Amino acid sequence: MRKKVIAANWKMNGTLEQANALLDAFAAAPLTVNENKIAVFAVPAPYLMLAKEKLSGNPYLQVAAQNCYSKKSGAYTGELSVEILQSIGINYVVLGHSERREYFGESNAFLADKVNICLEYNITPIFCCGEPLEIREADTQNAFVAKQLQESLFHLSASEIVKLVIAYEPIWAIGTGKTASSAQAQEMHASIRSVFAAKYGAEVASIIPILYGGSVKASNASEIFSETDVDGGLVGGASLIADEFIKIINA
Ligand code: PEP
Repeated sequence: MRKKVIAANWKMNGTLEQANALLDAFAAAPLTVNENKIAVFAVPAPYLMLAKEKLSGNPYLQVAAQNCYSKKSGAYTGELSVEILQSIGINYVVLGHSERREYFGESNAFLADKVNICLEYNITPIFCCGEPLEIREADTQNAFVAKQLQESLFHLSASEIVKLVIAYEPIWAIGTGKTASSAQAQEMHASIRSVFAAKYGAEVASIIPILYGGSVKASNASEIFSETDVDGGLVGGASLIADEFIKIINA
């Protein structure tokens, strides 16, 4: 049985006061999480330890970094290493978000190096993929996403690939209020699973969680999450509103 994962991506948002209030609300809320369904909070780096501490009462609430560098440590001013993340007990990191790819020039090859160092340090990458609008309009999204996966992940062994969580996020749906239909999400998730099946076999592909991201809200979460190959969500804007994100987790 593959895990369900609901991940919050706070991005570069929230003062310390707001972070405290949100984390307190999530820690106190009745959440339907368990060993097969976890919630992960990707908070800004200065709040990682605070989030660990505040959510420590529930083992199914995990904390993620929003990024890390591809080297273990060293003279890379401003970067965040897996060694640091491991030392403060962080088990997840979001990699390859479209904002990192677009604004910071992260390539598929560079992301392959980041995936490697995370696995070396037992940190689970939540690996993002997804197409821009012009690729969707040209109806070449399946090949585009397959290439992202092939170039960043296909050097991994089967025992390594099953440690990842994949997040499919069509760029045209991120922060735009425009959601992929549940049929569009299912179609792409099935395509992603078939790309993994062709390389690693159907059994391996069947245990990799594939999350959907792109304007998920409390009002559309259950419909999207009910699709066969959708195993949860990566949620930006709505994860900054406690009531809204609590409903999404429980959907
Ligand atoms: C995201 O940042 O990964 C995201 C999906 O954002 P939003 O939910 O705001 O579209």
